[in-house]
Amino acid sequence: MGRCTAIVLAAGSGSRMRSQTKKQYLLLGGKPVLFYSLFAFENHPGIDEILLVCGKEDMDWCRRELVEAYGLKKVQKIVPGGKERYHSVYEGLKAAGNCEWVLIHDGARPLVDAGMIDRILEALPKTGACVAGMPVKDTIKRGDAQGCVAETLPRETLWTIQTPQAFSYSLILDAYENLLEKEHPPLAITDDAMVAEYRGGARIQLVEGSYQNIKITTPEDLTLALLYLQEREGKEREFSKNKY
Ligand code: C5P
Repeated sequence: MGRCTAIVLAAGSGSRMRSQTKKQYLLLGGKPVLFYSLFAFENHPGIDEILLVCGKEDMDWCRRELVEAYGLKKVQKIVPGGKERYHSVYEGLKAAGNCEWVLIHDGARPLVDAGMIDRILEALPKTGACVAGMPVKDTIKRGDAQGCVAETLPRETLWTIQTPQAFSYSLILDAYENLLEKEHPPLAITDDAMVAEYRGGARIQLVEGSYQNIKITTPEDLTLALLYLQEREGKEREFSKNKY
C-alpha cells in the first residue's frame, strides 16, 4: 500500500455545543477531545502522516498543547481551515500532496479506534473509496413541509455515516476541485463521500464503523463519550492484567 495521510478536521466553530471553548478542545477524561483521534492515527502503523486542519487562531495552541505536549510525531503539518467543512477538507487535500491515499476524519469523533482504521485500510485499495458507517437502528421517515410523514424509508438499506472516510488521493482531489469550481455548490455538503458522489463514477464501499464512534455535537455527547472511553480503558487494563 502506498503512502497514506490522515487529514484530521478541527476548524469548526461547534456552535451547537453552547460553550465558550470550541468542542474539539473541551476536556474529555482530562485531555482535549481532539487529542484522541490524533493519538489513534499516530499509533496506527498504516498511517504515515497526519495533517491537522484547525482555525488559524488555534494553530499555535495545537502545535504546543497537542503535538508537542503529547509527542505526536506524525503530525507534520497544521494548516488553517475554511468557512465550511468542505473548504477545510480542500485546504487539507492541497497541503497533503505527496500521498497515494487519504483518510479524512472529524476531530470531533474521539472514539475512532485501531480496528476501524484496519477495516478502512483493508477496503480502500479494492474500490479506492470507502466510508465508515453503521446500519441504522431506528425507523427513518421523511417529513414534509407541514411536519407530517411523507414516507417511510426501507430501513434495511439505510446506514448512518461516520468518519474516517478514505479515498485514493487523486480521486478525491479531483472531486473537490470539481465541486469548488462551481459558483454555487448544489447541495449542503456534509461529508466527503457526497463530494465524490456529486462528481460521479466512484464506487464507495460502506465499511463497519462503530456505534460508539459518535461525533461530539451537543453537551450530552461528551457524557456518552466519557462513558465509552472509560469502558475502553477498563478493557485495556483488564487485557494487560491477563497478559502479564
Ligand atoms: O460541524 P460538524 O460537526 O459537522 O463538523 C464536523 C467536523 O468538521 C468537526 O471536526 C469540525 O471541527 C470540522 N469542520 C472544519 N471546518 C469547518 C467546519 C467543520 O474543519 N468549517
